[in-house]
Amino acid sequence: MKRLILSAMAVSLAVVATAQEKKEYPQPERMRPGMTEFWTPQPKVVTPGDQATASAPSDAIVLFDGKNLDAWVSSNTGGAAEWRVHDGVFTVDKSKGDIQTRENFGSYQLHLEWMVPEGITGESQARGNSGVFMQNMYEIQILDCYQNETYVNGQTGSVYKQVVPLANAMRKPGEWNVYDIIYNAPVFNEDGTYKVHPTVTVIQNGIVLLNNFTILGTTEYIGLPRVVKHGDGPIRLQSHGDPSEPISFRNIWVRKL
Ligand code: MG
Repeated sequence: MKRLILSAMAVSLAVVATAQEKKEYPQPERMRPGMTEFWTPQPKVVTPGDQATASAPSDAIVLFDGKNLDAWVSSNTGGAAEWRVHDGVFTVDKSKGDIQTRENFGSYQLHLEWMVPEGITGESQARGNSGVFMQNMYEIQILDCYQNETYVNGQTGSVYKQVVPLANAMRKPGEWNVYDIIYNAPVFNEDGTYKVHPTVTVIQNGIVLLNNFTILGTTEYIGLPRVVKHGDGPIRLQSHGDPSEPISFRNIWVRKL
């Protein structure tokens, strides 16, 4: 009888231990893309004035002058950048993935011109999507936002999913858009947190879209920005997987700050 009681106690203790091991706590709700996409209010549409093409200043590093992609490499392979150079411009080849500068940069002034092809199809994020990444971490969105609405923190000139641009300054497909970007690289503490956040000013076609915006962290499609310690990095151009016709670039130069 005593033995029976002892073994019954042992069994009930084991049940308690098992119950403790299996105790479950609530988990954060799983993130989905739509949870970080905001559609209103839409930035006002501003029609750009005429702009002469800005050739590179004397102290600029020329990244593309119409001839070749020697200043760029494939982000996937580190080998030659294989986007298509033609007629003094180059066009994204979506089968080849992103390309990035051979050289790494810290803070800079970047000039870059891009064009959405006339007759482009698709809508929202699936129409002329590309992007330019600062130090390989932070994306300034490139998208055909000419009469094409999308979530506003993902439209042209946003730091993707972090900020709504102050205006929509798009030229129509077939016309060249001009980006002038002033980027200040972050400074990190030893523990990997920001001592000084990165900041960025974005001007499209002479119109300020971002005015010294404080970048929160990395660009993420799903979830919130992360803080990841890094040093100088390349300027990367995005080959986006959307099925729309590819965009083109020309006249790219950078001045170190
Ligand atoms: Mg993009």
